[in-house]
Amino acid sequence: MTTTEPGTSRTAPPSILPAARAIDLVKTYGKGDAVVHALDGINVEFESGKFTAVMGPSGSGKSTLMHCMAGLDTPTSGRTFVGEREIGKLDDAGLTQMRRDQIGFVFQSFNLVPTLTARDNITLPADLAKVKVDQAWFDYLVGQLRIGDRLSHRPSEMSGGQQQRVACARALIERPDLVFADEPTGNLDSNASAEMLAFMRRSVTELSQSIVMVTHDARGAAYADRVVFLADGKVVDELVSPTADSVLERMKQLGS
Ligand code: ADP
Ligand code: MG
Repeated sequence: MTTTEPGTSRTAPPSILPAARAIDLVKTYGKGDAVVHALDGINVEFESGKFTAVMGPSGSGKSTLMHCMAGLDTPTSGRTFVGEREIGKLDDAGLTQMRRDQIGFVFQSFNLVPTLTARDNITLPADLAKVKVDQAWFDYLVGQLRIGDRLSHRPSEMSGGQQQRVACARALIERPDLVFADEPTGNLDSNASAEMLAFMRRSVTELSQSIVMVTHDARGAAYADRVVFLADGKVVDELVSPTADSVLERMKQLGS
């Protein structure tokens, strides 16, 4: 028998498993004198239903970490898990299914299909999976991200910020358990950036979405529950319940 404290919800028991984790993750590019240790033995957990920010200087391995943990790139050694499933143990079909059903990815460079309208870009993952788009969820995302008047435009007819928001809607359309977002506010002005961050925060707080976001903006990182700091392919620090000031202070200490 388990007991429930008064006032606590019984409907959403805390998940013990992290949304994703990496064990001794190494990614090496090149050979000999030209070798680059993009990831140099990373051990990290990203909690379920939490918003984690990843920070670090340019070239510290942030994008490589996101790509390896989302199964978009293969590590040189080490293990990565999404929930209980180990990515390296999946066959091609399993990996495709995981990327489609469990993971959303917002790329640093959007990766929208230039010949498709915003609407068709957003629904592409569902269309490829041959599943019906949840129209209410589509409308919600489009409304939250304020791209309703851009749905018939192609990427070349949209600003960087609008493309970024379309890319975000596309990452979320299939309600993935876990979203990786690589500098999702990198192309947004401060107002649009604050809106995007508030949207992600609400997705975590209200919908229990798990989000891992790369950012180099201390104010952006302050929306997260925890900040993980990388340097030279290693996790060098972390900060729980960050504020913009505490993040800036920590960045100063780390010399980045
Ligand atoms: P960040 O996102 O933190 O700026 P990256 O993960 O993109 O860093 O890169 C980490 C390191 O790996 C950098 O030194 C970068 O030059 C190197 N790197 C990334 N991708 C490649 C690649 N395809 N080939 C060779 N080196 C790479
Ligand atoms: Mg990067």
